[in-house]
Amino acid sequence: MEEWIEQLQNSINTLDRLEKVIHVTERERQAIESLQTKWGTTPYFASLMDPDDPACPIRRQVIPSFKEKENRYGIKDYLIFKENRANGENRPDSIARQYEDRVAFTVTDMCANYCRHCFRKELVVDRELTLRFDVDEGLQWIREHVEIRDVLITGGDPFILSDDKIEYLIRKLREIPHLQMIRFGTRTPIVLPQRITPGLMKVLEGFHRVPVWVNTQCNHAREITEKTAQAVYRLLRCGVNVGNQAVLLKGINDDMESFQTLHKKLLSVRIRPYYVFYCEPAPGIDHFRTPVEKGAQLIRDGLRGHTTGLAQPMYVIATNIGKIPLMPDYYIVEKNAGEYVLRNYKGQLTTLPNIPE
Ligand SMILES: *Cc1c(COP(=O)(O)O)cnc(C)c1O
Ligand code: SF4
Repeated sequence: MEEWIEQLQNSINTLDRLEKVIHVTERERQAIESLQTKWGTTPYFASLMDPDDPACPIRRQVIPSFKEKENRYGIKDYLIFKENRANGENRPDSIARQYEDRVAFTVTDMCANYCRHCFRKELVVDRELTLRFDVDEGLQWIREHVEIRDVLITGGDPFILSDDKIEYLIRKLREIPHLQMIRFGTRTPIVLPQRITPGLMKVLEGFHRVPVWVNTQCNHAREITEKTAQAVYRLLRCGVNVGNQAVLLKGINDDMESFQTLHKKLLSVRIRPYYVFYCEPAPGIDHFRTPVEKGAQLIRDGLRGHTTGLAQPMYVIATNIGKIPLMPDYYIVEKNAGEYVLRNYKGQLTTLPNIPE
């Protein structure tokens, strides 16, 4: 049996299995026993947890907490609202649309790691919302919509599907003349790097008119190992670029040190930071949410100017009307008829002539 399938079959998703990996606290035990929620991770990702520290950044993404029952700021039926599922346009359940030229195509609700902060919690973790993931129905809709040029395959985690299913998806999408790119959003390079097998590489590799891009999700430097580096390298060898979409999470990566280390370490394993997301107002994840400006401040004080330009993600708020960038905006100190006064990361000032239109 392939190692990745073994990893999924031995998912750490019961108290007994978890107790073999870490020292489970009384609070954690009670939460696991009483909350009706899907949880679990791969033995590989579980092995990265700190056995003695309940505040471990990996542990907090994996183990259910009573805080998930609190909901002060979360929006009810969040996913329906966020993915414009009730706005009149007739679309299959699998297609979420916010833009004219691209859509998110949900193909499964299964994941290798059931992230506690998931904004698709209602669908993936709490299982209160059920959608129909009919791949052929989604493909047919895309075929009929000639304005769509970019399809983002998501879930759940689409790399949980078999090689054959992934091959089918890519092949069928590439047969659609108006498609120019295919993207996968998958956490497998981080939570299940074993998934990037020679079999999957065969499906992904080779020059083609329609390229495949991958975005993964890594939220803390401790999630990155030698295995991550190998998995990313294998994807790159297939001609697949790998980006990161981190989520800004309170107590996990919202301090300068963690935020900066994460972005430097991503580059060291060839992952290009793409987005940092504000933690969305989905229900039951208030405890992970920071003030909105936090992400921009961290970029201002920890990344821009302080480290490699390639390590700079775009900070965005994902909303029902698309992603809204919220980057630091302190750079222009003054603008007058003659010049701009600009500030750099150290607080030094410089000027630039103001050229009239
Ligand atoms: C995030 C998202 C996209 C892709 O956005 P990019 O900014 O192009 O990465 C497309 N459609 C939906 C519904 C999305 O949520
Ligand atoms: S892998 Fe993605 S879809 Fe799955 S639980 Fe984590 S954040 Fe949610």
